[in-house]
Amino acid sequence: MKQFPPVSNRNDSNSANKSGHSITAPLTATFGHRSFYAGFYPALLFLLGLSTLLLFSAAGENNKVEPGYIVFRALSQTYPQQINKLSFRSRLNDWSIQVNGTWFNWAHGRILPDALTQQYEEYLSFGFYHYPEDLPPVPPFDAEGEKEFLAQMKPHRQGLTTQESNAFRQALYQAPDKPAMDEQIQEIPFLEFRIKVHPMVIWPLKRVERHLLDAQQQDPELSRFFRSLRNISTYSWRKIQYFEKLSNHSFGTALDLLPQSWHGKAAYWNWERDRQEDWFNIPYKERWSPPQSVIDAFESEGFIWGGKWLYFDPMHFEYRPELYLLRDFLAKYKPGDETD
Ligand SMILES: [Zn+2]
Repeated sequence: MKQFPPVSNRNDSNSANKSGHSITAPLTATFGHRSFYAGFYPALLFLLGLSTLLLFSAAGENNKVEPGYIVFRALSQTYPQQINKLSFRSRLNDWSIQVNGTWFNWAHGRILPDALTQQYEEYLSFGFYHYPEDLPPVPPFDAEGEKEFLAQMKPHRQGLTTQESNAFRQALYQAPDKPAMDEQIQEIPFLEFRIKVHPMVIWPLKRVERHLLDAQQQDPELSRFFRSLRNISTYSWRKIQYFEKLSNHSFGTALDLLPQSWHGKAAYWNWERDRQEDWFNIPYKERWSPPQSVIDAFESEGFIWGGKWLYFDPMHFEYRPELYLLRDFLAKYKPGDETD
C-alpha cells in the first residue's frame, strides 16, 4: 500500500505518525461479512473538476456506516495533525471525525458539522472519488451515455440549487474566511518561481521539486518544459465557476502550471466547450499536458493531476493524499468480495 508521509508544516520527517496506522485491519474488522461495495454506488459526479468514477455514498439504513468509516480513516491517516479523533457516535448513529477541534459527521457523504447534520439533504455529497492510476478512456461515454451527459450539462450551466458544504475543508485548512487564509499562506521558492501556498503543502512541494530536479538530469524535455513556463499560479480565494464551492486554490493547496503558449492544444474543458459541444471527446494528443515525469513527481507526493478529470484541467495539480489511500483500498476489494 502506498502511504504518504503525514502532513506536517514543521519538518521533512516522513516517519512520524506513519507507523501503527493500518487501514486494512480495522476495516476488515468493521465490515464483517458484508460486501465492501454494499455501501457504495458507482456514479458519475457531474461537478466541475470531479470526473468521478466512484462516488461514496452512505450505507442507508444499515447501522454500520462503512463508507464513512473508510473515508474518515483515510482522512485521519493523511491529515493526522488536523484530524485526531475518529469515532462512531451512537447518539448520531454516524461516523464522525474531529477536525481541528470541530466534529464533522459523515451525514450520508455530506461531511457536515453537528449544527448542519440534520439538514444533510440540502447538500450534495462531498464526492470522494476514485483517482485513476492511468489516463481514463477517451471517448469517455458510449452514445447513450454521451446523450445523458449532455443533458446533465444544462443544469450545470445554470447552476445547481444544492451544493457541497465548504465547512469541512475550511476546518481542515483552518480557513474560515479569506483574511484568515491570507494570514496563513506562505510564500516559498518553487522551481524558478515564488509561489503562495498553505503551510501543509510546503514539504510535499519541496519533495516534488527534488524529484523534478533529479529527473531533469536524465530528461532534457524537462529543462525545456521548465523554460516554457510563464508562471505557477497557486493561492487565490475563489469559488469554482457556477458553484458556491470554494476552489482548492482558495486554500493554497492547488497549483496551475502555466506555459507561455498552449501551442494550439486544448488546455481546459471550459475553454473548449464553446468551440466543441463534445469537448470531452478531444483525444489526449490534442490536449496540452506537462511531461509525464512532472505528473509522476506530483503524484508521488500525494498530489492529483487535473488532466485525468473528465472536466480536464491539465495545468492543475492539487494535494489530495487521501484519494491514494482510498484507491489502494478499492484496488484491494472488488465488487462482491467478502471482506472476511
Ligand atoms: Zn487550478
